[in-house]
Amino acid sequence: MMQIAQNAVAAFHYTLTDDQNEVIDSSAGRDPLTYLHGSGQIVPGLEKQMEGRSAGEKFSVDVVPAEGYGVHHPELMQEVPRTAFQGVEDIQPGMQFQSRGPQGEINVSVTRVENDKVFIDGNHPLAGKTLHFDIEVTAVREASAEELAHGHVHGAGGHHH
Ligand code: ZN
Repeated sequence: MMQIAQNAVAAFHYTLTDDQNEVIDSSAGRDPLTYLHGSGQIVPGLEKQMEGRSAGEKFSVDVVPAEGYGVHHPELMQEVPRTAFQGVEDIQPGMQFQSRGPQGEINVSVTRVENDKVFIDGNHPLAGKTLHFDIEVTAVREASAEELAHGHVHGAGGHHH
């Protein structure tokens, strides 16, 4: 049976929970997630644990923040005046904006609005969290030459073009 290795295309079902056992995301009831192994399309800590698995395998993985969505950077949480959002009528928590930071464009979310102050957070919503995955590998196959050239999967669960 084929094992997951560099340049394999693998499909898997997953349920992602946090430290409180709350489900953050799951593929249950949807198509499995399909990815090109070794291309960085899934978080590094999970990709590492997919190596050598084959279809039908079920396992659990804990991924530390540094190998997940990164550590939480307090300096990315800022308070800005509402006047910084010119042209935006009604600023609400949960809204997302592009912002130019030292590392280039980042997505920032509004976390709180208080009078003329807006609190924003440039961290990924899952930054600083340990990720708990329950995985079931459903299929493993070789990538086609075209998929390798494009760096992504074609067909079911992948790009259609
Ligand atoms: Zn393509």
